[in-house]
Amino acid sequence: MIDAELIARMMSWRRQLHEHPETAFEEVSTSELVASVLLDLGYQVHRGLGKTGVVGTLRRGNGPALGLRADMDALPMGEFNQFEHCSRNPGKMHACGHDGHTAMLLGAAALLARDDGWCGTLNLIFQPAEEVAGGGRAMIEDGLFERFPCDAVFGLHNWPGLPLGQFAINDGAMMASFDTFEIRVDGKGSHAAMPEEGIDTLVCASHIVVALQTIVSRRLSPKEAAVVSVTQIHGGEAWNVLPDQAVIRGTVRCFSNEMQARIRALLGEISTTTARAHGAKASFEYYDGYPATINAAHTTGIALAAARATVGADAVTLGCKPSMASEDFAFMARVKPGAYIWMGVDGAKPSAPLHNPHYDFNDEALAIGACYWVNVVKGFKG
Ligand SMILES: [Zn+2]
Ligand SMILES: [Zn+2]
Repeated sequence: MIDAELIARMMSWRRQLHEHPETAFEEVSTSELVASVLLDLGYQVHRGLGKTGVVGTLRRGNGPALGLRADMDALPMGEFNQFEHCSRNPGKMHACGHDGHTAMLLGAAALLARDDGWCGTLNLIFQPAEEVAGGGRAMIEDGLFERFPCDAVFGLHNWPGLPLGQFAINDGAMMASFDTFEIRVDGKGSHAAMPEEGIDTLVCASHIVVALQTIVSRRLSPKEAAVVSVTQIHGGEAWNVLPDQAVIRGTVRCFSNEMQARIRALLGEISTTTARAHGAKASFEYYDGYPATINAAHTTGIALAAARATVGADAVTLGCKPSMASEDFAFMARVKPGAYIWMGVDGAKPSAPLHNPHYDFNDEALAIGACYWVNVVKGFKG
């Protein structure tokens, strides 16, 4: 199905992108490359959705409308690799393999443009800012699905730890939600030698951090997975002054709206009541980030069949354990039936982990990913 020339082109796109990484909503040369390849292949190309997003559309007779998503952004981190295609943009790096995701979907675009074995409308969605900034949500808010109606959406991520030539998927939760919170503790500053004259915000904040550990361990069912992590505590400047304010920040991960609401309520309740017990006051802000990525049953079946057709039934795991990391494909899968799959990239030498300065997308996976996309399109009958 896939020839050596196209594999070489995918590798060249991938390395070009790796060499010139662009971060959230700044994917200007990346989207330029995507748009020009799609135009050459005969796709209708729409640019500027969610600022730097691109949608390539190809219509072939009557049939279902399908959305296939790739992410294009890099991470704001320096690269430690030394090879020829390593990053030329200081402090930016394709450490999550979105260079590979983009190249694979462009490869699939080429294969599908010359293949008569499907009909319907194909929307190839190249999204900006997957990392933290919510580019998928920005495209939806810009009218992605009104302008390009889709009966279903599919996403894919390379997965270090899973061998090359394998896929893994779950019917249901695949990636966790990602929210953040901030608790401000107000007490009364004093001389450190005279604590009785103040209300110690640092001792109070320490108690709050410990009390928050009981959310997952004591308040939620052990049968449900969730994470509450405190990641920052700020307060105080001098060796001998008790500050009158302290700030605690952290993140919450889980797999359902109900669980999110419950954790949010507990964070507020525990921080305000613990502060009160210390004579201090706590104010609490909760910021909704990404929802959980939940695969729908019907689309999971299509993704599973496509993966099996690509690498063989034995090489595809159904029912993998979801990850506590998050993914903004969740916004698309929340409004359209969706399926998000992991593709193995560990060759003879295991891949470096995602978000690691030594990471590099395994080019041997390019052909596998492109074929998977073609099989999704051919297997989707609406
Ligand atoms: Zn990432
Ligand atoms: Zn990623």
